[in-house]
Amino acid sequence: MKYDIIIIGSGPGGYVTGIRASQLGFKVAIVEKESLGGICLNWGCIPTKALLKSAQVYDYLKHVDEYGLKAEAIDKDFDAVIKRSRGIADGMSKGVAFLMKKNKIDILDGFGKIKVGKKVEVTTEAGKVTEYTADNIIIATGSRSRELPNIPQDGVKVIEYRKAMTLPSQPKSLIVVGSGAIGAEFAHFYNTMGTAVTIVEFQPNLVPIEDIDISKQFERSFKKAGITVMTNASVESVDTSGEGVVATVKTKKGEIKLEADILLSAVGIKSNIENIGLEDVGIIVDRDKILVNDYYQTNIPGYYAIGDVTPGQALAHVASAEGITCVEKLAGLHTEPIDYGNVPGCTYATPEIASVGMTEAKAREAGYELKVGKFPFSASGKATAAGTKDGFVKVIFDAKYGEWLGCHMIGAGVTDMIAEAVLGRKLETTGHEVLKTIHPHPTMSEAVMEAVADAYGEVIHL
Ligand SMILES: Cc1cc2nc3c(=O)[nH]c(=O)nc-3n(C[C@H](O)[C@H](O)[C@H](O)COP(=O)(O)OP(=O)(O)OC[C@H]3O[C@@H](n4cnc5c(N)ncnc54)[C@H](O)[C@@H]3O)c2cc1C
Repeated sequence: MKYDIIIIGSGPGGYVTGIRASQLGFKVAIVEKESLGGICLNWGCIPTKALLKSAQVYDYLKHVDEYGLKAEAIDKDFDAVIKRSRGIADGMSKGVAFLMKKNKIDILDGFGKIKVGKKVEVTTEAGKVTEYTADNIIIATGSRSRELPNIPQDGVKVIEYRKAMTLPSQPKSLIVVGSGAIGAEFAHFYNTMGTAVTIVEFQPNLVPIEDIDISKQFERSFKKAGITVMTNASVESVDTSGEGVVATVKTKKGEIKLEADILLSAVGIKSNIENIGLEDVGIIVDRDKILVNDYYQTNIPGYYAIGDVTPGQALAHVASAEGITCVEKLAGLHTEPIDYGNVPGCTYATPEIASVGMTEAKAREAGYELKVGKFPFSASGKATAAGTKDGFVKVIFDAKYGEWLGCHMIGAGVTDMIAEAVLGRKLETTGHEVLKTIHPHPTMSEAVMEAVADAYGEVIHL
């Protein structure tokens, strides 16, 4: 009943931390109330990518003639698409169970609550309560969909992401509220599958945290794909008394009513910090997040927090990196604090978006003199051959010292290309060094080299 480390939550924060801690020689237990793998494997990153893959294959089939091929009687089976996604999530969760065993990590099934004296109380579904102690406790309880008071979720007509990936039948029409990564990915999935989709965004642009050029291109692509885009618009209320849902939307031109079968609320997340004992232990929470130092210690020694419950970007790779940093520090290793300015963010719709570092507007605001380069995929041999010419790579450098301030990409497969910029920035690479790095031909990645060349007036293929 005594461990070196007890982790509450087995998402990409908790389970990755557990494995690294075990590698470092700690005796570890993880408390989990649902399925191993957390939101990411069961309800987030992985099942959504499975859905998006089905949509992509379906889209290819619909445009098969563009590739000199023929396919007849193309059809879809929505139920089978959902089942495939669930099967993939289940398989990934089983994979985590295997990794736990391999790393000799105990799984404590049930709801975990921290107590004073570095104790964790675990209550099983059947109501059995057991108390465990540990030298260190790591809270990795993650998050859930945020519910706005004016858009109450009933789980049938007004839904959140879990329901959106397990609907019993395909809706004919869908309103998506919020155009961050989650909203954008579901909008793309359902639109490609044949649902009439309207996306409503409060900010002036879709994917509003991205560089403005990316947002504009994304909006063009969404409109071209047939999605109705409403920006500068906010859903004021929803009425579910009729057959479907009626949303009252405030726009610059006044109020309008939108009707659909279903409304998906994708307006952000809420940390799972209720009833886990934070108040009893005296752990400080600010604006829905547990406050931690550079090594994830809360204000109370021996208690740590990582992942979506802390203030960094709510992303799987951030949760994992935070946990690894936390336990490496606990093991006495020399470990650097995470650079949150160098975290890549990705949206897996079509076109994909991937970015890292400052947007052009942020870099100008920060007072830098800039060298900005852009290379469109329409000028790329690989993109032309693949029939994926939409999009571009945009790079931003500090004109004075050559620092790579930001990299923003939109197009097919860019989520697999952004790591070059993340690594380059980590190694303090200059534009000149990127230019002198030979990129393979023909690849989409050549666009990075060409965008950098454009920034320095040396672009070849434009
Ligand atoms: C639809 C969707 C798509 C996403 N796509 C991506 C993506 O492509 N890339 C990306 O990087 N991020 C993505 N995310 C975000 C990513 O899923 C989260 O950032 C990540 O899962 C956070 O990891 P975590 O370990 O902090 O928490 P979680 O993954 O939320 O895991 C927390 C775990 O703790 C458990 N738990 C909670 N409270 C208790 C308790 N008291 N006792 C016991 N167990 C408890 C929960 O059951 C859960 O299993 C997506 C999210 C969603 C919703």
